[in-house]
Amino acid sequence: MKNDCIFCRIANGEVPKKFLYEDENIVVFRDINPCAPVHLLIVPKRHIRSINDITASDKEIISEMFIIGKDMAKKALVDRSGYKLLFNVEKGGGQEIFHLHLHLIGGWQKKS
Ligand code: AMP
Ligand code: ZN
Repeated sequence: MKNDCIFCRIANGEVPKKFLYEDENIVVFRDINPCAPVHLLIVPKRHIRSINDITASDKEIISEMFIIGKDMAKKALVDRSGYKLLFNVEKGGGQEIFHLHLHLIGGWQKKS
């Protein structure tokens, strides 16, 4: 837990947030500034700065994030229409919150 990290504080329950999913390692909540009709964040409870900082010992948490991502896509009814699972990595990659999170983005209107 990093005290000045907003996602640590959310995951820890210090900052109130509705979780769409929670287990001992991961929480899922809605992005506060969604860029699509469905925009969820899959967040490990443990503080990891970015994908640059993962090691072989994080194998399980990373694979769990993807499994939960596709489960949440199904729950949000975007699994068939399609979605993105995305990590922004460091400033140049668009990362603004330096606590690892996987974006689940989808639900765009179909173009006819
Ligand atoms: P990134 O640019 O990959 O670091 O993404 C950070 C995301 O976190 C952005 O899409 C923000 O809208 C979102 N965000 C920032 N603060 C909060 C918050 N308190 N609750 C939910 N989402 C947040
Ligand atoms: Zn953190």
